[in-house]
Amino acid sequence: MTSVSKRRYTLGILAITAGTTLALGGWTNPPEHNEPDTHAADAHATPAPSTKPATPAAKPASTGAKPVAPPPPPAVRPSAKPGAAAAQTTTTAKPAAKEPPATAEVEAPANADEAIKWLQDGNQRWTAGRDDAPNTSPARRQTVAAGQHPFATILTCADSRIPVERVFDRGVGDLFVLRVAGNLVGPHEAGTIEYGAEHLDVPLLIVMGHTKCGAVGAAAGHGHAEGNISSLIQAIEPAVTRAERLNPSLPAAEIAAIAVKENVWQSIFDLLKTSQICRERVAKGELKIVGAVYDISGGSVEWLGEHPWQSELIAAFSPGHTGPQTAEAPAATTAPEAHADEH
Ligand SMILES: [Zn+2]
Repeated sequence: MTSVSKRRYTLGILAITAGTTLALGGWTNPPEHNEPDTHAADAHATPAPSTKPATPAAKPASTGAKPVAPPPPPAVRPSAKPGAAAAQTTTTAKPAAKEPPATAEVEAPANADEAIKWLQDGNQRWTAGRDDAPNTSPARRQTVAAGQHPFATILTCADSRIPVERVFDRGVGDLFVLRVAGNLVGPHEAGTIEYGAEHLDVPLLIVMGHTKCGAVGAAAGHGHAEGNISSLIQAIEPAVTRAERLNPSLPAAEIAAIAVKENVWQSIFDLLKTSQICRERVAKGELKIVGAVYDISGGSVEWLGEHPWQSELIAAFSPGHTGPQTAEAPAATTAPEAHADEH
């Protein structure tokens, strides 16, 4: 982490108002590319999108193979949020033993790509057993109490074997974390992600599945689920269906492993479908969404990159879409099931 440049945000403890200047840069779409490969073995390199955009039919004919996403422009984040330090003004009654510092500095990556580098470096320390546990001191808690500026949102499974801050060797105020079985995106998850992006200006979202996920395994096993667990299974089933269709001869255990990745794409798809805020921020280069899979045994994170159809999905789900009306994707491609997005 010492090798990367850092931006520092000066937080005035009593400064309540702050500017929220946002430097927006253009974002150039990748060049035209071919149809995505549908072979199961290429699930990582050219993963199938979760489902097809509802309208227009299929995806644009010119889309396909994994786009090479240009690095987003640096995003200037606000130095503090209005009202963030309001509570600090009510602590005058006690003869405080320690006065908080007048100002405190919070380090943060300059942009989403640097945020990924921080996470990758932290994960390497974690897997090597050399974690530094940065930003875990009492002073850090005091600093970020004035206002949080997490540099990444992490959506992952509730599985107890994924201690998120430790996996990335980060501390207090670094990560905006959502956890739900199967790392699914429903309205509450989408709203939380939007809050992080819109109000905390988080430049990066990681949707992270994991090996041996019980929720995905249950969906792959097609067993009976009781109570509200059934809603989780139903949400994961489209990913399992795609994994099975692409790998008809594989046993359920191997299908589950493939479905973990498919389920990551499904969650990103569901977010792009339902969140105009995220679509707009991604299109402007203010938010980068990346898939990942955590290995609960080895502790390493496999980085999947952006959704291979990201730009097409954003275009298709945007209001007033006037893109080219294209034919249905050939059946031989990974074109998703027609109704797989209806869950
Ligand atoms: Zn899980």
